[in-house]
Amino acid sequence: MTVVTRFAPSPTGRLHVGNIRTALHNFLFARKEGGTFLLRIDDTDRERSTAEFDQAIRHDLDWLGLTPDAIVRQSERFDLYEREFEKLKAAGRVYACYETPEELELRRKVLLGRGLPPVYERKAADAPVPEGRAPHWRFRLDHDPPIAWTDLIRGEQKFDPKLLSDPVVRREDGSWLYLLPSVIDDIDLGITHVVRGEDHVSNSAVQIQMFEALGSEPPQFAHEALLVAAEGKLSKRLGSYGAQHLRDEGVEPIALLDALARIGTSQPVEPLVSLDELAETFDFSTFGRAPAHFDPHEVELVNARLLHHLDYASVADRLPAGASEADWLALRGNLERIGDFGDWLAVLHGNIEPPELGHDERLLIKEASAIARTLDWSAEPWRALADALKRTTGKKGRELFHPLRLALTGRESGPEMAPLLAAMGKERAMARLDAAASR
Ligand code: GLU
Repeated sequence: MTVVTRFAPSPTGRLHVGNIRTALHNFLFARKEGGTFLLRIDDTDRERSTAEFDQAIRHDLDWLGLTPDAIVRQSERFDLYEREFEKLKAAGRVYACYETPEELELRRKVLLGRGLPPVYERKAADAPVPEGRAPHWRFRLDHDPPIAWTDLIRGEQKFDPKLLSDPVVRREDGSWLYLLPSVIDDIDLGITHVVRGEDHVSNSAVQIQMFEALGSEPPQFAHEALLVAAEGKLSKRLGSYGAQHLRDEGVEPIALLDALARIGTSQPVEPLVSLDELAETFDFSTFGRAPAHFDPHEVELVNARLLHHLDYASVADRLPAGASEADWLALRGNLERIGDFGDWLAVLHGNIEPPELGHDERLLIKEASAIARTLDWSAEPWRALADALKRTTGKKGRELFHPLRLALTGRESGPEMAPLLAAMGKERAMARLDAAASR
């Protein structure tokens, strides 16, 4: 069996971390199994769906690297829904209803008042049809046997269909509700695995009967625990949970995916650099049942850890013009996000304000300058400079390194000095040492 998954957002808003996670799981499972990942735009609601959101969703998925193998739009498939609906009608599995929302609400209250489950009560087939009212349509659930499936995350699931209302599938004006078109599409597109949030568990129960009524074997289901924001920890820097925002903030897409792939599972969040690595370790059996907590700080941490090891080739096109591999290697270990690189590049190659040093520190830097002049700069200038300076001054530790860092970078702290000095080169380093020594 070739695995086919789908991510089915409604284009009524931008993606946020919750639906990005669902998209990711669908993507990773398909990738792991050598299958296909589809994007289905659920745009049957023509008032709330917009072309802008449709485009933004595709953009965001591309940015994340979760590019689908194919895209379908529900709004282009109404003919198919009509044909399948007619079949269900002919088989008596959908039927016309005429109650107003007020009547239904009243009935619900009466049932609840009597301590009964508020399940929709079917009318007799020969009940009078109110005049001048267009029907809406419900799917007739079979009341036996119980609906059961083995969920890939939640395990054995069982529903008593007698306790479920026949769901409305179509409105008076002919427009579709979500449930039935989704099943028709899943059948038509050969979806083998439906991976989505656990808020859809009871939908799955009724949809399983729809698959059967349409003559199809239901797909496998995996209902993931919902993603919730870690209380009170909404980082000011990440600001919000939207894709757009994370992108504007300069978060590496793979860092976000590293976090989203693993939170709520028994596997640790790790700074993996590729979707293939995430796909290899993807496993529904590691998913927990409790809500997964999303903490933006975790994304920041994994983002930094990732940058510290990212090679030049994978970032070169996003660095300021003229930044070399040596610059990247010298600075990456100090970055929290890639946008910080430009500031450090300026520290490395731009003009810095010479620091004000004390008397002893100035002497030390003068000595450093004399040594630096004679060094072999093609080897390891930092090691050679520090060793020689240790020998001639007898100083070590902070006393030695702090004035050197200040003189060479104008900063109290920053990237490791060895690659930094090598990337800076003799000329600039000498000029900075001399400027600090003579100030
Ligand atoms: N458009 C539905 C939603 O966003 C799709 C659910 C599904 O995956 O079937 O909730």
